[in-house]
Amino acid sequence: MHPLRRTFHHRLHPCVARCFAVPPDSTAPTNKPPQKIKFNREDSTPDYNAIPTYPPRPSFESFHNPLQPLSQTVVYDGAPDDPYKPSSTPLYQTSTFQQPDATSFGKYDYTRSGNPTRTALEKQMAMLEGARAGFAFTSGMAALASMTRLLDNGEEMLVCDDVYGGMWRLLNKVTNRQGISHRFVDTSNVDAVVAALRPNTRLVHIETPSNPMMKITDLKALSDELRPRGVLLSVDATMMSPMMMRPLDLGVDIVVHSGTKFISGHADAMGGIMLTRDPTIEQTVAFFQNAEGSALAPFDCWLFLRGIKTLALRVERQCANARKVAGYLAAHEAVTTMYWPGKEMLGHPKSGIPDEQIQIHCNQTHLFEDNGGCSLVSFCTGSEAVSKRFVEACKILKITVSFGSCNSLVELPTAMSHASIDPELCQVPKDLVRISVGIESHIDIIQDIKQALAIAQEENQSGLLKETATVGGTGRVVVEEDEGRYDSKFEELPRTPAVNNTGSTNKE
Ligand code: PLP
Repeated sequence: MHPLRRTFHHRLHPCVARCFAVPPDSTAPTNKPPQKIKFNREDSTPDYNAIPTYPPRPSFESFHNPLQPLSQTVVYDGAPDDPYKPSSTPLYQTSTFQQPDATSFGKYDYTRSGNPTRTALEKQMAMLEGARAGFAFTSGMAALASMTRLLDNGEEMLVCDDVYGGMWRLLNKVTNRQGISHRFVDTSNVDAVVAALRPNTRLVHIETPSNPMMKITDLKALSDELRPRGVLLSVDATMMSPMMMRPLDLGVDIVVHSGTKFISGHADAMGGIMLTRDPTIEQTVAFFQNAEGSALAPFDCWLFLRGIKTLALRVERQCANARKVAGYLAAHEAVTTMYWPGKEMLGHPKSGIPDEQIQIHCNQTHLFEDNGGCSLVSFCTGSEAVSKRFVEACKILKITVSFGSCNSLVELPTAMSHASIDPELCQVPKDLVRISVGIESHIDIIQDIKQALAIAQEENQSGLLKETATVGGTGRVVVEEDEGRYDSKFEELPRTPAVNNTGSTNKE
């Protein structure tokens, strides 16, 4: 154990540290009656306020599924203890569980601390990522916020310089108020990260590919540098899903996913997942998650479990479609720069990603052998107005933030997903369009892109488009006034007739 890890370990309350002796996989099939966990009244421990969860969380360290990842998404028993042997994981829509008696517990007592449907999701995600522990949160941001809890007042994070807008907001408006500082660094340059480390740098947080600029960070090279220095490495691997990349195998300490994207896959559930192999991190996160009540509700866990069954199929199809879309866009005259990390872009004159980075991405992802790629495609047109018109002229591609859904989506990041980043500091070009490619026929997707580009080009040539799309050059597209953009106007709300004391309604 390197020095900083030792410090981290020692910083834990003794009762938390004691929990490192995690019990064997308590989710393994068994015919035994429900496990009773007795308080030892003679011992002053457990200190109920200090242990992560009581009853303790199961560890998935010893759980292995020898099948290929594509099969692991489907061949998985999420409820090994259920006497009815359900073929699909049941939804335990309950907040409480009866205890055997007043001083002993079964496996679960209260859903904030643990729920069998959530355990099933966390276990399957841990298996897919090769983690010993998984945590399901109410959103990707809740998972990321929980990750920042690993830092203490006075410590700092280094963060990739084109991090997701929501993370930018969290760092600049929330964690900074708790005495946790951050600096942005180009993490595609490992030497630059190492040079930027300070004695109080506790953690480096990155996205690879970054969203939406597709900057690539060499995970193995970076973790090899950080590990001996006692600095943790956290990766937001949302864009990849466990189907394309397993960062823990490359030496990363923490993996975070916005499950809202590929894990759900249907744009109908919100959640986040955090995964780790490190028992210290596991116990700390378990403690905070239980203390703060940020764990995912059973029904959403159940939706995610359903989503995982088709994860491999969806990601494979989405990436295959994206490869065709990227090829089409790269050859189109209206496109000036392409951001897509597939092998076909190596040496391409329009590629905005350096070849070395594309090659690293191809090496550290595995779904398509060494061909890399992903299901998101970003491109520039050289004109914000043309890009905006393109986005609005799409018919099949829906104007929507987020990605990873079955449906193809299109957005202008500076106006939508990344609008929370200070425009002066935002690295994303205003004319950058991001497409999240879905599972439709690639013929229809490309046809839609073709007709939308034609409209944008035609209107531009006829002088119909004006470069006045932004407010004061901030990169934000005018929807209305910025103020109140997300609020419904009171006048638009449905009117409910007021009820007077006699029970009759007053018509306004
Ligand atoms: N990480 C990335 C890369 C994202 O794109 C997003 C959301 O778009 C998040 C994290 C946040 O996830 P959520 O919206 O589930 O909170």
